[in-house]
Amino acid sequence: MDSFDAVVIGSGYGGSVVAARLGEAGLRVRMLERGLRHAPGGFQQSDDLKVVSQVVDVVVTSGNIAYRTGKIVGGASIPMDGAHFRIPSKSFAATDGNGRRYWPEVFSRAALDPYYAKVEAMLHIRQLGWHEISKAGGMFGKVLKMAGASAERARLNYRDCLHCGFCAQGCIYQKKVTMLHSYIPLAEAHGVEIVAEANVHHLEPTPAGTGGTGGPGGTAGYRVSYSERGESRQIDATRVIVAGGGIHSAALLLRSRPYLTALGPHVGEHFNNNGEHPFIGILPPDFAGIAGYDCFKGMDNAGLMSFHWYDSDGITLHPGGGIEPSAFAANLASATNPALPPQTWGLPYKRFVASAYPHRVIAFSALGLAPGHTAITINTDGNADAAPRDRVAYDAYLDRLEAIVQGIADAAGVTIVPTVSREYAGTTSTHLLSACRMADTAADGVIDADCQTFGHENLYVCDASALPYAIAVNPALTIAALAERTAERIIERG
Ligand SMILES: Cc1cc2nc3c(=O)[nH]c(=O)nc-3n(C[C@H](O)[C@H](O)[C@H](O)COP(=O)(O)OP(=O)(O)OC[C@H]3O[C@@H](n4cnc5c(N)ncnc54)[C@H](O)[C@@H]3O)c2cc1C
Ligand code: SF4
Repeated sequence: MDSFDAVVIGSGYGGSVVAARLGEAGLRVRMLERGLRHAPGGFQQSDDLKVVSQVVDVVVTSGNIAYRTGKIVGGASIPMDGAHFRIPSKSFAATDGNGRRYWPEVFSRAALDPYYAKVEAMLHIRQLGWHEISKAGGMFGKVLKMAGASAERARLNYRDCLHCGFCAQGCIYQKKVTMLHSYIPLAEAHGVEIVAEANVHHLEPTPAGTGGTGGPGGTAGYRVSYSERGESRQIDATRVIVAGGGIHSAALLLRSRPYLTALGPHVGEHFNNNGEHPFIGILPPDFAGIAGYDCFKGMDNAGLMSFHWYDSDGITLHPGGGIEPSAFAANLASATNPALPPQTWGLPYKRFVASAYPHRVIAFSALGLAPGHTAITINTDGNADAAPRDRVAYDAYLDRLEAIVQGIADAAGVTIVPTVSREYAGTTSTHLLSACRMADTAADGVIDADCQTFGHENLYVCDASALPYAIAVNPALTIAALAERTAERIIERG
């Protein structure tokens, strides 16, 4: 039986960072990733689902909600839209109905700043120049200006972007600094073994002295059971870092619950989509006196964002770019238009979309300090599913959000069209937080401030699911900063 100082499960924003830092500190590390491994630019510019699904995992729950997560070496750093923001202080201060702060006491903006700085340097994150904002971003800025609101240039890990609009498939031009360009090469330079197509099924503790992880009388560790291209395998590790992302880490712990008997009742509960909710607007034909504008081109992140409603309502707004507005335009038109081509790519589709709403569709989404309304569960096959929880407070958040967006639309003459019904709110979510949330005590969460599980020493959860609550800005930078901190704490403990 192979044994390691650490096994890391998942290679996204949480996993790759921890693996690289533990490897750098001289630990023997193996990272297991269920997805394929592509070369840094080895992707395909296609909307064919067979291609997209090699990069993005769409988890469709029994309630027909579809969440998008990473599924490739590099995790969702490969398809993500590049927006990286530090959490404003107010998001750290969010409290529950009893006045308990969600974030453990040690966390504040100042406490995370040194780790943010490390990640920003590794991923070359910077504020875009005005000349880099796409047309869809420009339209968004214009709409907000007409509503008397501010917008600012976003902070991205893109450099010299060509605005081809295929960010979600993986950038073939290598203009996005992903885990494959940063932490993964660092990890491999320090001897970390990365095994692709290795899907972890469950974990169980190894009694001291039997697992090869510490020798007689030594520290007990964990046995990791996984399948590698259909072959069943087991390895032992002194430490396990679960970093399977916002849905799959909770599912893995739930599958392991028969063995990890000290795991408390919070696993899977408190799942939170960061208040993410999409909006689509149709701009008037003569909008702002601009004749030939085009919202259907450019990078997936249109390059602007607005903090205008953050202090008052805990809400930020973000324009959608790339394929998003055109896909929504096609959806709108398809309800009444028999000419919809059978496939959503190629010239006939492009012409159809252009004729449907001649480039006047604007897409944007909101993020907010909103409560969760769902729990991650597993079905009888052990696969991830979701179950509804109380959503009264979430609906109140959506009421507030819709009133803000309607106010913007009225001021700018934009017609808002229905997107996701309340019942399916969350369907477009890629921000999948809090299903293994951190807390100061086991009474409130799954892991402590160092991301170590309550009740199981040396078992960590370090990814999107560790964040204790919505943060109202894009989460990837915070996930990676938290992973930098967690790796430091693991190394200090020895
Ligand atoms: C299309 C898209 C656009 C996005 N845009 C942005 C953005 O602009 N800004 C932002 O901040 N965030 C964005 N996000 C969200 C962001 O990418 C995620 O929050 C972040 O990647 C989460 O990091 P993670 O480590 O938790 O999970 P991931 O990055 O998803 O990595 C988890 C990895 O674990 C693997 N895994 C899961 N289960 C197992 C298992 N049992 N065994 C082995 N491997 C397993 C998965 O295959 C995956 O590769 C976007 C996400 C998507 C999908
Ligand atoms: S829009 Fe820019 S970052 Fe996105 S795939 Fe094209 S070149 Fe890469």
